[in-house]
Amino acid sequence: MAARDDPKPTPMMAQYLRLREEAGDALLFYRMGDFFELFFEDARKASHILDIALTTRGEHMGEPIPMCGVPVHSAESYLARLIKAGCRVAIAEQVETPEEAKARAKREGTPASKALVGRAIVRLVTAGTLTEEALLNPRRANVLVALAELRGTIGIASCDVSTGAMVLEECAADRLGAALARISPSEVVVPEEWQHGPDGAITRPRSTFTSDAGADRLKAIHGIATLDTFGDFSRAMLAAAAGLVAYLEHVGRGSLPLLLPPVLRAAEAGMAMDEATRASLEILEATGGGRAGSLIGAVDRCVTGAGARLLAEDLSAPLLDIGAIEARLALVQFWRDRPIERARLRDILRTIPDLGRALGRVVAGRGSPRDLGQLRDGLTEAARLHHWLAAAPDRPELLDQVLERLTGHGALTDWLARALVPSPPTERAAGGFIADGYDPALDALRASSGDARRAIAAMEARYREETGIATLKIRHNGVLGYFIEVPARHADALMAPDSGFTHRQTMAGAVRFNSLKLHEEATRIAEAGGHALAAEEAHFEELVAAVIAAREAIAATAAALARLDVGAANAERAAEGDWCRPALAEDTGLAITGGRHPVVEAALARTGERFVANDCVLAEDNRLWLIGGPNMGGKSTFLRQNALIVLLAQAGCFVPAASARIGLVDRLFSRVGAADNLARGRSTFMVEMIETAAILAQATRRSFVILDEVGRGTSTYDGLALAWAVAEAVHSQIRCRCLFATHYHELARLAETCDALSLHHVRAREWQGDLVLLHELAPGPADRSYGLAVARLAGVPATVIERARAVLAKLEATREATGGIAAGLGDLPLFAAMRAEPASASPEQQLAETLRNTDLDALTPREALDLLYEWKRTLPRSKG
Ligand code: ATP
Repeated sequence: MAARDDPKPTPMMAQYLRLREEAGDALLFYRMGDFFELFFEDARKASHILDIALTTRGEHMGEPIPMCGVPVHSAESYLARLIKAGCRVAIAEQVETPEEAKARAKREGTPASKALVGRAIVRLVTAGTLTEEALLNPRRANVLVALAELRGTIGIASCDVSTGAMVLEECAADRLGAALARISPSEVVVPEEWQHGPDGAITRPRSTFTSDAGADRLKAIHGIATLDTFGDFSRAMLAAAAGLVAYLEHVGRGSLPLLLPPVLRAAEAGMAMDEATRASLEILEATGGGRAGSLIGAVDRCVTGAGARLLAEDLSAPLLDIGAIEARLALVQFWRDRPIERARLRDILRTIPDLGRALGRVVAGRGSPRDLGQLRDGLTEAARLHHWLAAAPDRPELLDQVLERLTGHGALTDWLARALVPSPPTERAAGGFIADGYDPALDALRASSGDARRAIAAMEARYREETGIATLKIRHNGVLGYFIEVPARHADALMAPDSGFTHRQTMAGAVRFNSLKLHEEATRIAEAGGHALAAEEAHFEELVAAVIAAREAIAATAAALARLDVGAANAERAAEGDWCRPALAEDTGLAITGGRHPVVEAALARTGERFVANDCVLAEDNRLWLIGGPNMGGKSTFLRQNALIVLLAQAGCFVPAASARIGLVDRLFSRVGAADNLARGRSTFMVEMIETAAILAQATRRSFVILDEVGRGTSTYDGLALAWAVAEAVHSQIRCRCLFATHYHELARLAETCDALSLHHVRAREWQGDLVLLHELAPGPADRSYGLAVARLAGVPATVIERARAVLAKLEATREATGGIAAGLGDLPLFAAMRAEPASASPEQQLAETLRNTDLDALTPREALDLLYEWKRTLPRSKG
């Protein structure tokens, strides 16, 4: 855009260009009356994303200026789409009225006609800093992260701006990916010129990431002298916090959103899972994206958005502390045992508004009367819940902790209840949200304008009588205010100089008049209305201040309600699927009986099929299960269901099993071989090996590893050799619990040297030529692979199956003769077998055919000799 070089821009263009520059890489929403307009490149980009018309307005340097616009009243839905498309948007508002602009122009000595309304960027809308209900998913946290590095340690400050929840932690550079995968931020901010930042991170000046500033800002925000009460934060964490606060201030143009006291997350606070593990277990999102098909999609029965957000947090960060896990489980058990009370609780929770987010909007200065109403209703219901539950016998400890935080808002809720009308509006400009009887002065103003309105109504009747014009009306519009209107044919009578009416406007078919009396009453209404609005506005500010003063207690109540919802929802899920309470132990055992995969089971249930439950019992002397069996037999499902059961248990949920006893898992690893993972389009053999290497480097004796077809992404021998070596290392060096699914029969030989490894297979049967997959796990090696039967099941043509059968017979015959691949990894006669002609031709006939097709002139003597050897090898041995 050549705009900046314009020799003499108009004042508006100059203002626009200044704001455009200030907006940086964000789109500029430039307020003009009832629209936000976008110009130049912004207009092209936005019109494309929003699919709205691109027009032009005026000229710049001889070229028409591209323009598009969105109405202010529906701007949110457009913003949502732009943010989703990865844009950031700077909102430039009019910061003075046209009258103020004129007055200013007069003071400055410029002609009033040239007065330009002042505009300023009041806010940057970015994915990680949203508070608007319409822009947020109610069931997902929206997290902003800032990163800073200090002497090799990375500080991570994360904050859900919509609720103010803030967490500080740190990690080594090589664990950043795993930490970010857990936090799953919508926006990341890093110091400029920093190499560890993830793709798409926003860069900010380094000077805004200093630990001293971080400590000072946090102390100032929370009005405390020392941060010790919140936790022992490291310098790296404080530097990240400084970057976070500075960025929030930058996007809020100086005003900060709600920030609750930061919570310190210890490095080894929970079960560790890396990015690959999270992706392969599909915890919050299925591989194709979206909740359907994910773990949370199959588990979540929360009735509130806040509950769903907390459950997502629980599942993302399973615990390592038995006490804390048992506390959650006891809460689930409590509600599991009380179905009637659980139903009642859930009915009540359903009606409770999202307190945390309403609070977030109010504190950020974007609250509406409706938000105050939500706080009133939510806090009132919370107190009622407290009253009810405090009388319940046999309360678990966590329920008591929750109950404590449900009350204590009596004075505030009473105040809100007195001040607000039952359903306050979202818009506050029009007033009408403060209840009658709350403020006598406001009541008087309302009465006065009510009187005036009634007087005007009476006036209409009187004028009709006096003038004899039955169609005379007193009407109101935004331009003229109140006026008297009569049809044109009756206008003459009112035009008379002594009629008491003054002419205002002649329309097609109607003429409009004013009168002294009408003017008086209208002024009364306007004045009373203006004063009433000002009074309501003052009350609003006062209520907002009261809410802000109580923000931490309100946030605690919101969190308590969310925990209550999660506890009851997990109980609901457990009851629905007959899930059990897991037992946890500080050892390295794992005993799951009747385990199921929650997602696969739900999917099967939809088509009326039954899931076959399976046991998994690992112990110190039997900690690695090697699992074989046919494709589609259920190996992957079995591996994952056990990993998910461990994850659910340590997240404090009941689990889909008949019984489960779980020795705490410090790190969970899930790897899927490249061959199985191609659908994801990202996994190459290299990635597979990098991910496998990470397990070998990071897994401990207390870890749980599932390896699914590892080694399949490369040629048979490499893959087999790697799978062999990895299994051996997991068994003999790491010594952790592991389920290893493989197609390589040869790996069964590992059982001879690895004493804590045992062989298992998923059962299948061939019945009348058809393959029946039993999905049932049984001890012992897989007898055969059933690959051909699976292919047939999948509809591969019979002729191809027949041919494959012949090739297989040859391969197996040679394997037997040579002692099999494991005997010395000797050459498989693949080449010879594959070259064989269709099964109908005899080997001799095939040899003759090959000889006929060979161009002898093209062979060197050496090649000819090789060929002879090869041909001899393909001939069957003589019977004699
Ligand atoms: P492959 O080797 O081809 O990857 P696999 O042995 O890993 O196959 P899975 O992907 O686990 O097989 O399962 C294939 C399908 O079998 C599942 O999508 C599911 O429909 C069904 N299935 C798996 N396990 C069970 C079970 N326990 N009960 C019922 N159906 C099951």
